[in-house]
Amino acid sequence: MSSHNSSELQVLCSSGQLLLQPLWDRLRTSKVPIQSPFFPVIFAIVTYLGFCLPFVVLDFLSPWVPALRRFKIHPDFSPSVQQLLPCLGQTLYQHLVFVFPVTLLHWLCSPSLLPPEAPELLQLLRDVLLCLLLFDGEFFVWHVLHHKVPWLYRAFHKVHHQNPAPFALATQYMSLWELFSLGFFDMVNITLLRSHPLTVLTFHVLNIWLSVEDHSGYDFPWSTHRLVPFGWYGGVAHHDLHHSQFNCNFAPYFTHWDRILGTCGLHPPGVQW
Ligand SMILES: [Zn+2]
Ligand SMILES: [Zn+2]
Repeated sequence: MSSHNSSELQVLCSSGQLLLQPLWDRLRTSKVPIQSPFFPVIFAIVTYLGFCLPFVVLDFLSPWVPALRRFKIHPDFSPSVQQLLPCLGQTLYQHLVFVFPVTLLHWLCSPSLLPPEAPELLQLLRDVLLCLLLFDGEFFVWHVLHHKVPWLYRAFHKVHHQNPAPFALATQYMSLWELFSLGFFDMVNITLLRSHPLTVLTFHVLNIWLSVEDHSGYDFPWSTHRLVPFGWYGGVAHHDLHHSQFNCNFAPYFTHWDRILGTCGLHPPGVQW
């Protein structure tokens, strides 16, 4: 029975690997130089701005489109150009002046070799979920500390709270210490899990998307917190409330830490706690 189960598992795993192999082969041999020292910083900026752009367009349209305002958490708020430009400028400045030298140093110290085999699909999904859960818990601790200790808040976290009604480009409007702390958690988790480069890439894309969605100010029927059952995921509704009230919803994505420690500030729709 157990040998039957393990052979079934082997077939499932190898079919998962076969599923991702063509994608991985294309990535490894494509013209996009994913082993280049410039790739991490360009990838981070392009992915971030690519995810922000649709929300920037929606914010420009929303004053003239009442149907769009129905999905806005703050229906009468749209960021001005004077709010957007400093956010964009800070992201570009921090990535080019600080993040790039660090990723270059990392590349020089440990140039990564791309394995010829793709990861198994189940392994990729498991590692991405684990990375997300670990990141969520680590940021929760960091975030609570930086709200409860006044000098930590003033010195490192206050800048991220400059916009009480968040918008997509305000996602990475943060101090350098906060940006590097997030990057550190990110790197620790993928190193601990010895994640495959395709898993790392998938996690980074998902993490950037979820952080932009958290700050977008739009609560659509297809927003992530409405797709995950039982109120496990707080998403934009939770994080937006954190920006208005400061003292609740410290976890960026999931709700379990805030529920356990009694810092949950919003009941997701349809969930009785
Ligand atoms: Zn905060
Ligand atoms: Zn935020």
